[in-house]
Amino acid sequence: MTTLQHCQALDATDPLRPLRTQFHLPANTIYLDGNSLGVMPAATPARVADVVTREWGTDLIQSWNQNGWFSLPQRVGDRIARLIGAGAGEVVATDTTSINLYKVLSAALNIAAQDRPAARRIVSERSNFPTDLYIAEALCKERGLELVLVEPEGIADALSADVAVLMLTHVNYRTGAMHDMPAVTAAAHAVGALMVWDLAHSAGAVPVDLRGANADFAVGCGYKYLNGGPGAPAFVWVNPRHTDRCWQPLAGWWGHAAPFAFTPDYQPAPGITRYQCGTQPIISLSALACGLEVFEAAESLGGMTALRAKSLALTDLFIQLVEERCAGHGLGLATPREHAQRGSQVCLTRSEGAYAIVQALIARGVVGDFRAGDPSTLRQAQDRPGSGRTGSTDILRFGFTPLYIGFEDVWHAVEHLKQVLETGEWQRPAFNQKHAVT
Ligand SMILES: *Cc1c(COP(=O)(O)O)cnc(C)c1O
Repeated sequence: MTTLQHCQALDATDPLRPLRTQFHLPANTIYLDGNSLGVMPAATPARVADVVTREWGTDLIQSWNQNGWFSLPQRVGDRIARLIGAGAGEVVATDTTSINLYKVLSAALNIAAQDRPAARRIVSERSNFPTDLYIAEALCKERGLELVLVEPEGIADALSADVAVLMLTHVNYRTGAMHDMPAVTAAAHAVGALMVWDLAHSAGAVPVDLRGANADFAVGCGYKYLNGGPGAPAFVWVNPRHTDRCWQPLAGWWGHAAPFAFTPDYQPAPGITRYQCGTQPIISLSALACGLEVFEAAESLGGMTALRAKSLALTDLFIQLVEERCAGHGLGLATPREHAQRGSQVCLTRSEGAYAIVQALIARGVVGDFRAGDPSTLRQAQDRPGSGRTGSTDILRFGFTPLYIGFEDVWHAVEHLKQVLETGEWQRPAFNQKHAVT
């Protein structure tokens, strides 16, 4: 049996332990929801206050030049690039993941229409994050294309000469299952399709090598593992072989080659800058930069390799403790056990009470979240443990951010889960009232 002392010993030898002090961690809270909204870096309040009071308050419009506001999306993008295997000048931090997906999918479809006009399908996964599917559906309607949704194991069969774009999320938001990025990208390219990756649950969570995988387009999120704050700007990457080939559809003045020439016609900026649309949110971008500074501090401690090793150790420990201490309470495992197929979260299944169990845990200071198993979108098959599939059962989702979660935290989280299950505490009416945001 794993002991508390063992978990404490793991913390004592954790090379990333010093990074914890770079975050504001609320007292009496074990925060296992950094995959939804990352915690606040300790540096953020002062940085945001400085941007507001000095840069905006005093320097006003000169800040666009003298405080570097104008180039902030590119400079923040360069810092994200290092975490996802992209080159300098290839990433811009801007807009939302949904909006960026619209831009890159449109660009990919424009390129496909030129190179392979007979390819009129977008393929994605039925269990992809809904906003990704909605954006693809809207584009298909707009252009008279077909959206084909398949199960993860059906992707290979769906790839044919008719496919213009394969659009996938690297780590599944609901199960934590991770695709083999180089292999899937190569399979898409083998039929001539372009590959669009959503890195919402990958950037800052798992090592990503977009150039190594030879991907075509990618988008991702600033407020999850990058700790950029609520509604932080998202990011967009385009393989340089495509960037100057076409416009993106939201051709606003910030994507113009010379925005302050105020010409009536549009001339796209060279490179990734053309993926900007309008005036950028400087306060939010400044907060996102604070999140990225912590990753730079992590570089001298082993960087993404060390973060990945710790993330796997945390998720392995959580799975092991749940199986040792919560056996017989009807919990299943939706997340793959195989390291190569796992992101940085663990999802447990339960046919009854998943929402209330999560609420009871939150009342005890253990913050995870709940995701409904939707029978209309998930195959009603028998659950296969650890397969990355969930059938129609509900999910208790726990994200493990190796920058600030420790091994002792994992011990206590599982101890609370055990007590919630053993006492039946979750059955209290207060824990069964649904809120707007789950
Ligand atoms: C979180 C998430 C999003 C969020 O999109 P927004 O436009 O920021 O609301 C999109 N896609 C995936 C896969 C996500 O996990």
